[in-house]
This record gives sequence, structure tokens and C-alpha cells, in this order.
Amino acid sequence: MSPATESTPSDGVLLDTFGRRAEDLRISLTDKCSLRCTYCMPAEGLAWLPATAVLSDDEILRLATVFLGLGVRTIRLTGGEPLVRAGVAGLISRLAQLRPRPELSLTTNAIALADKAEELARSGLNRVNVSLDTLDRERFHSLTRRDRLADVLAGLAAAQAAGLSPVKVNAVLMREQNLAEAPRLLAWALGAGYQLRFIEHMPLDAEHLWTMEGMVTADEVLEVLGRDFELRPVAHRGHAPAEEFEVLDGPDRAGWVAAPGGHRVGIIASVSRPFCRDCDRLRLTADGQLRTCLFGHQETDLRSALRQGATDAELAELIRVAVRAKPAGHGINAPGFRQPERPMSAIGG
Ligand code: SAM
Ligand code: SF4
Repeated sequence: MSPATESTPSDGVLLDTFGRRAEDLRISLTDKCSLRCTYCMPAEGLAWLPATAVLSDDEILRLATVFLGLGVRTIRLTGGEPLVRAGVAGLISRLAQLRPRPELSLTTNAIALADKAEELARSGLNRVNVSLDTLDRERFHSLTRRDRLADVLAGLAAAQAAGLSPVKVNAVLMREQNLAEAPRLLAWALGAGYQLRFIEHMPLDAEHLWTMEGMVTADEVLEVLGRDFELRPVAHRGHAPAEEFEVLDGPDRAGWVAAPGGHRVGIIASVSRPFCRDCDRLRLTADGQLRTCLFGHQETDLRSALRQGATDAELAELIRVAVRAKPAGHGINAPGFRQPERPMSAIGG
């Protein structure tokens, strides 16, 4: 049966015991990647999932249909690097045909975006988030272990030209490597019309190198930016993970591109300013495991249920049960916090 025409369970929404409603689903398309960012995975890569473990397009469509029937409204495709999977545009066009039509976005390192942006937009992709931590070619090479900065910049320009806007740029700052570059990154983003967000380094790296003392906090980023820019906090952020700041003044102001919501910069401070209270996210790993918290240890095996012939109603019940058990918070700052077994690249960021 075609997923688009299958009847969907529509009874209710996904509410957890803390009153949060899950409406945003991140689907990881692969755990593989074309880069080796030092804060994410080791130089030699990881033990990748076997192909048979990874959900097929049909399986993703089937599960997406069930999630939409349960009130999910936005789907973000991620990885690993989602664009290393074959046929992403085809998958997007099928997701775009589902009803209610989800808002579709993609988180990518943009290595392969220049050639694909237009086709992805035509297929129904609404927006992209591109990860880029530095504008310096040498530093990019040492941070990602690949000399591919030019490809990322070309990918960003192609995304903007294809109308995948607002084009958001995510940067992780490391104290010794690129913290001092934060103002330059912001000036560049304002001049190019991209929305820059700084993400705190999280205890999700494959090599468990993260430490609380070693990570750059939101306070530190704001202090560094404050030397060059005048920032004003934007009051309401709803479910968005980024705390937003209006950029009132700064270097080369005359060259800033006019942006719909004004000139802004965001900070995603999952560690120092957790936003678990407003979390509306769910994650489906490339091998079909549902996670209600990025940092949790619980997974619900939707792939096995699917492959053993579960009905839509049975899948929906598994999802509801998992959501009801969503923890109140990630507990990174609590004694006894234990980093999840899977790194960020294998969960889906
Ligand atoms: N490969 C794609 C990319 O880099 O955009 C998508 C997956 S990646 C895991 C998603 C986001 O997670 C990226 O913005 C990346 O910088 C971020 N990330 C990876 N490891 C991280 C960590 N340990 N802490 C914070 N952010 C991390
Ligand atoms: Fe790949 Fe993204 Fe991890 Fe970098 S952050 S290694 S691009 S998955």
C-alpha cells in the first residue's frame, strides 16, 4: 500500500507527562559522513550501520505517515551526513506529498549541496541548516580533517539561490580553535544574509573528549561577540532551541543584507541554559530507533515492529508510550550523568 494513501491513526497528539507536545521529528538518513569533525567523530570514522539495518525510503515514509497522524508538523532530515545517502531528493518529494504536508528541512555539512540545492528545493525541501565552524581554509581542514571549505561556501550560496531560506548556519565553537573567530563569522553571515547560530559543544562526541570545563559556554560567546557587536535579546523563542539576539550594531553595518526578521544571531545553549522544558523534538535514528531525548539512554525499536508487520495503530501506540516516558530533562548538569552510547552522528543532530 502506498504510504501517502494509507489510513493514519489520528486520535490525539503526542503528549508527555510534563505536558509537552511533540511536533518536530528529526529523521537520520545515515550514520555515515563525508567529514570527520574533531568534536564529532574520530579520523578513521566509526563502525557504520550495516545497510540492512538502515530504514529504506518506504519504511521512512510509512513511519513518517504515522508520526504525522500523531500531530508531528515538522520533519528535519539529518545524519551523519544526509546527502551521502542516495536519492534524498526522491525521498523529500515523497515526504512532501504526505498530508498534512510537513514542513521539511535538512541539516547538512553542505559538501554536496552546491549540485543538489536546486533539485532539493524543487522536490519540496523548505529550508536548510548548514554546519560551518570557520571561514579559514587551514582551520576548516584541521577541524573537519578535510580540505573542503570551498565546497561548503558554494553549497551555502546555492541554497540561498534556490530559495531554501532562511539559510541557517550552525557553528560549534572550541576555545583553542575558533572561539576568537566568532565575530568574523557573525560579520560574514550578516553580510551574506545567513542566520548564524552558535551551538554549545555537547557530550555527544564519539571519543568522549567533551568536558564541562573545556566547553565554550553561551556566556563566553556573548562576551566575545559583545566586544564588536551590540546585541539585544529577543524575548520569545517558543520551542526553538536557539536563544535569539537582535544585532543592533557592529562592523561593516552598511553591508549587512536586509533580513526578514531583522539582523539576528542565535545561541543554542543545550548545556549551560537547557531548554528541555520547551522541547518538542523526537528523533528517529537511521536504523529506526525512536529517541525522545538526544541525551537519553532509551530507544524504542520501531524498525523491528515495522518489519514484523505492525499495523499503523500498533506503531502509533509504541510511539505514544515512548513519548509518555520522555524524561523531564537531559541531566547533563546532574551528578551521575552518563553520556549516551551513541554519538551525535549516529543519533541524528
Ligand atoms: N552532518 C550534518 C552536519 O554536520 O550538519 C548533520 C549531522 S551533525 C551531527 C548535526 C549538527 O550537530 C552539526 O551542526 C554539528 O556541528 C553538530 N554537532 C556534532 N557533534 C556535536 C557535539 N558533540 N556537540 C554539539 N554539536 C555537535
Ligand atoms: Fe559529519 Fe556533521 Fe559529524 Fe561533522 S558534525 S563529522 S559533518 S556528522
